[in-house]
Amino acid sequence: MTDKPMRVLFLVAEAVPFAKTGGLADVGGALPKALQELGLDVRIAIPKYGRIDDGRFGLAKLLDLYPVPMDNRYEMASVKDSSIGSSVPVYLVDSEKYFNREGIYGYPDDGERFIFFARAALEMLKLLDWQPDVIHCHDWHTGIVPNWLETIYRQDPFWDQTASVFTIHNLQYQGVFGRRILEVAGIDEYGFLVHPGMADLDHVVDLMARGIRFADVVNTVSERYAQEIMTPEYGEKLDPLLRDRQDRVFGVLNGIDVELMNPATDSYIAANFSVDSLGRRVENKLALQKEAHLNEDPHVPLVGIISRLADQKGFDILGEVMDHLMDLGVQFVLLGTGDPHYHQMFTKVTQDYPGRCAIFLTFNAALAQKIYAGSDMFLMPSRFEPCGLGQMIAMRYGSVPIVRATGGLADTVTDWDPRTGQGNGFSFQLYDRWALFTAVVRALETYKYPQVWAELQLRGMKADFSWNASARRYIELYQKAREFHASGG
Ligand code: ADP
Repeated sequence: MTDKPMRVLFLVAEAVPFAKTGGLADVGGALPKALQELGLDVRIAIPKYGRIDDGRFGLAKLLDLYPVPMDNRYEMASVKDSSIGSSVPVYLVDSEKYFNREGIYGYPDDGERFIFFARAALEMLKLLDWQPDVIHCHDWHTGIVPNWLETIYRQDPFWDQTASVFTIHNLQYQGVFGRRILEVAGIDEYGFLVHPGMADLDHVVDLMARGIRFADVVNTVSERYAQEIMTPEYGEKLDPLLRDRQDRVFGVLNGIDVELMNPATDSYIAANFSVDSLGRRVENKLALQKEAHLNEDPHVPLVGIISRLADQKGFDILGEVMDHLMDLGVQFVLLGTGDPHYHQMFTKVTQDYPGRCAIFLTFNAALAQKIYAGSDMFLMPSRFEPCGLGQMIAMRYGSVPIVRATGGLADTVTDWDPRTGQGNGFSFQLYDRWALFTAVVRALETYKYPQVWAELQLRGMKADFSWNASARRYIELYQKAREFHASGG
């Protein structure tokens, strides 16, 4: 690295602790800290959603109302600032019109809202006179930015040296809109993207596709998923474009925030424990059983699930074998929210198995920690999984993962093989209910041998899931992006 630290703007729709609906927020909160520790000047911009409390986060006004070009008019933005981990600056981009609402996503004008966020953030940097070397964009919400850098900002000396990295956290959510959004974004004159084999792009605006097409470097959040998305099966119709750019597409596994996710210090859980005091862990199981109104029994195997309730997560095959799994004598606790169809499905299961199956259809960060710390096994039967954080957090808390071997789950969980003594969990290949069932059966059989089980738990707890290694890889990607940019894209 040169004398001057590399400047990176993180442009992201969610970041812990300000706003979270899923893993994106964990990355938005943790990776910048790790990059800063490695010497980068990294700053974060996120929208100031109405639910972000000024007092709680000590927000201070940084920029008063300033105009942001939108469509053929201007909308006004303001910026408050705060920090993560005491020293990573966070800019919260505010607008009464776009962000003073109850929720984060799910509004008819989401396209316009995130175009505004991205544009306001770029305009903000000019006002602050802070020229980033790299803008690190995340998911469709910020996919327009690499497109802008190659079009309307191309001749602007302020952005001349700025390279872009676009990270795909989940290819399924692409941000697809009509042509009108190009006018809103001020790039109508450049028209639709045209790409052989992707007829859809001729008549819709796909913001994810634009990020992929125009960024200097593209990456996704595990090596396996980076390979998978090149195929029609996982490519969500963007695989031709991804294959076309494959020399720019990389995979970097997410880490977890090992300071926040630490069973030895976690203040949410009943009993702190570590590799040296695994015996104390059972107190968390008993506390969880009590809170969830499950039969209190330290021996019965307790399976935990914490997840968005979305099709991606494999709940269709789980639903098909749920009764068979309950017949095996397990307890289940599920924390999640999402598709009403799954809300109904799990509600029925709890009615059928009182005292053995508990569900919490809500988002609750404290309860999540209690489930990681109190469950024996953690289930993620995903159809696809770009990285998955739950399995890593579970392992750090001594809950043994049972996963489908896809994406980041395949990169982090290796199947326990009693013959060789290798493995840190249980995994199955085929997306099929009986494959899932068999993996759970194998886990339950292994659970009968406490010493072997403790060995599996300790293996997970001792593994390094910190951001350290991955943050170094991101720095390499930033350097690559700058080289590509300097050589003319
Ligand atoms: P995704 O990003 O697809 O939702 P990940 O496994 O990458 O899945 O990340 C999910 C993150 O969100 C984890 O930190 C998990 O603990 C958390 N999480 C998911 N659902 C809930 C919930 N209902 N309550 C609390 N935390 C949740």
